[in-house]
Amino acid sequence: MTELTDLTAAGAVEALNTGKCSSLELTSSLLKRTDDLEPSIKAYITRTPELALQQAKSSDEKRASLRKTNSPIPRLLGLPIAVKDVLTVSGIRCTCGSKILENYTPVYTATCVQKLQDAGVVILGKTNTDEFAMGSSTENSAYFTTRNPWDHERVPGGSSGGSAAAVAAHFAPAALGTDTGGSVRQPASFCGVTGIKPTYGRVSRYGLIAYGSSLDSAGVLARNVEDTALLFEIMAGYDIKDATSMELPVPTIQLDGKTDLRGLRIGVPREYFIKGIQPEVEKAVRTAIARFAEMGAEIKEVSLPHTEYALPVYYLIAPAEASANLARYDGVRFGLRVNTESNIEMFKKSRGAGFGSEVKRRIMLGTYALSAGYYDAYYGQAQKVRTLIKQDFDSVFTSVDMIAAPIAPTTAFKRGAHTEDPLAMYLEDVFTLPANLAGVPGLAFCCGFDNQGLPIGMQLMGAHYKEDALFKAGHAYQQVTDWHTRRPRG
Ligand code: GLN
Repeated sequence: MTELTDLTAAGAVEALNTGKCSSLELTSSLLKRTDDLEPSIKAYITRTPELALQQAKSSDEKRASLRKTNSPIPRLLGLPIAVKDVLTVSGIRCTCGSKILENYTPVYTATCVQKLQDAGVVILGKTNTDEFAMGSSTENSAYFTTRNPWDHERVPGGSSGGSAAAVAAHFAPAALGTDTGGSVRQPASFCGVTGIKPTYGRVSRYGLIAYGSSLDSAGVLARNVEDTALLFEIMAGYDIKDATSMELPVPTIQLDGKTDLRGLRIGVPREYFIKGIQPEVEKAVRTAIARFAEMGAEIKEVSLPHTEYALPVYYLIAPAEASANLARYDGVRFGLRVNTESNIEMFKKSRGAGFGSEVKRRIMLGTYALSAGYYDAYYGQAQKVRTLIKQDFDSVFTSVDMIAAPIAPTTAFKRGAHTEDPLAMYLEDVFTLPANLAGVPGLAFCCGFDNQGLPIGMQLMGAHYKEDALFKAGHAYQQVTDWHTRRPRG
């Protein structure tokens, strides 16, 4: 019999609905497994076992009483999940991986979390992240680096590395992440799990502590496409508390197991298969694309000519927005305060002590890019090129339904490999940044392993609000392959 900790989210929901297990049993097994293995993985910044057990118990009671009256059961009643520590949950500490928020307990819950809670989820804890989601490895967390469950010497990716590791290590069937420049997709790729970065505006950003407000999106990491779709559908939709959330109906995602993809047109962008990409990554992604062709999809080479500018554009716009967003951490209203005689000194000392070096680097970069003398040359120019990048996608989506591409040029790298060289770290993001700049959705999933046994991911990117098409194609792929079912030892 499969262990409770091996259940997928959909499998767990079914087990709960059919009475095969209670939420208390399921939650206890996940907590026990986490107790045993967390010291070697370090996925969580804050664990909330008492709260989880209490929520599990009350969801079991709720189920029993709803049953008695034949009332509808909330869709995810009793399902335990983990939440990246940049999404607020009222009453649970939210650090954003930063010392500056070490003692910050929010009094409000992110809308996407609230919607899942309304559907019945149990919260297992808050997962590790690069400080304010700035990074690609969790090494920028002010607390510790999460280990990749496939190889503890390697990073899990970032910034949602704690969530990806928690899912890969079977601490949680699903976890929430955020993706500003790849932070759901790249850790999903490094840890061999599935992740959805929704269209910008599809899921409310209320309660997602802002990094780059025009790029941030909250997404899901889970063990397969079906599970990511299950949570996504509940999280998505208009929210009066987020002016950039879109007033569009969320389609019901029907994954019927159909593997006939005739009529689907998949574009393969030539700019994503460049020199420097690990040969095994290219091979695995191309093999997967051939698999899509065997299922009936029409494969076309396409061009996104401004791809090479995504990196410099992102690393101007994201820090510019971050420099404004992070101005609020002044020692007065939130978090850490270093007391001094004068207020100006207090601001300086609090920020100096509270932020880590990557965050400071980005605040400086962003402040510079926005400064009066350089605004047009840097920020203004970056905005113009961002429009060209978006237009690349718009034009490609007139001839194909989605784009298939690698997620990262390499598989998970060793801890410390890029910590002395921020540019090398930024280069890890080349294939994920364009989707954020264009605001389009991306679905990440495993399509093979390299000769070190490390997972290789690929992404399908779609036109705005076409997540359902991505889920259907990804689900079809997972029906005919078993990469997503492999798991690390332990
Ligand atoms: N790695 C990118 C960065 O450092 C993306 C991070 C993210 O998506 N939050 O900014």
